[in-house]
Amino acid sequence: MTDTAHSNPPPDAAARRAAKPLICYQVDQLPPSNLALYQQARQGMRKLTEITIAPRDGGSFEVPAGSFFRIVSVEGAQVGDLNLWHAHDLTERFFSGKTRQLHATHVSTGDRLWSSLPGLRPMATITHDTLDWYGWDEDGAGVHDVIGTRCDPYTNYMLNGVDYHHCCHSNLTRALAVAADIPLTEAELHVHDVMNVFMCTGFTLDTHQYFMKASPVRPGDYIEFFAEIDLLGALSTCPGGDCGSSHSDDSTPCYPLQVEIYQPGAGALQGWSSPPRSGYSGTHGT
Ligand SMILES: [Zn+2]
Repeated sequence: MTDTAHSNPPPDAAARRAAKPLICYQVDQLPPSNLALYQQARQGMRKLTEITIAPRDGGSFEVPAGSFFRIVSVEGAQVGDLNLWHAHDLTERFFSGKTRQLHATHVSTGDRLWSSLPGLRPMATITHDTLDWYGWDEDGAGVHDVIGTRCDPYTNYMLNGVDYHHCCHSNLTRALAVAADIPLTEAELHVHDVMNVFMCTGFTLDTHQYFMKASPVRPGDYIEFFAEIDLLGALSTCPGGDCGSSHSDDSTPCYPLQVEIYQPGAGALQGWSSPPRSGYSGTHGT
């Protein structure tokens, strides 16, 4: 609603506006989190591998269920757009909208990244976030949003009339095409709304429009996840860099991002099992 109102308020407008807000989904109704176990398991973990993703590009990585992965800031402030798929079934993928509804507009330690319907299970749990000190700033902004979709060449073409090939959507598409050995046209259909890692965003207080501001991330900062299921991930180093000035062009300084995969110590996950897909019958009333 960026235009001014065209309708006059009814006489009981104040009463209608005074209805009490209700949290749609109570976090304490979610299946119990294993965060305490993961916090213990991360103490003895060791790094298996690391992948560096070049600026304005995309890369992929695999994380076996029961392992950890980190996205690490290196060299300079940089935002990353994250996609996740079930490693053995690309149709089960990260569900940004439901994750937002179940947790909040921005996610941090203890929050889970949920998969698309009909799977609806935790794909990953955030186990550490060096930017959790940021909280909510005076503009109402937070870090690591699940509200933005990803910068893409179609919206950019609509707004600016030019082809630009290094938007996050394209970077993720190329990365998935290589990882899954499928054509670009097929890969593109599997690219989905992202988790905006390190991105600082919010909605303006007056018009509620989506805004971004320079990310507070600095080299050495990282966000860490526990893989609840076998994961295929793709990460784009957004052409907006720290997203403090622009996106979808080559004018902003951009930096690499590093993905590190860690294995917990032997026996550290005793009693843990990978979560099953949703128990809903799937009959939809028929
Ligand atoms: Zn982007």
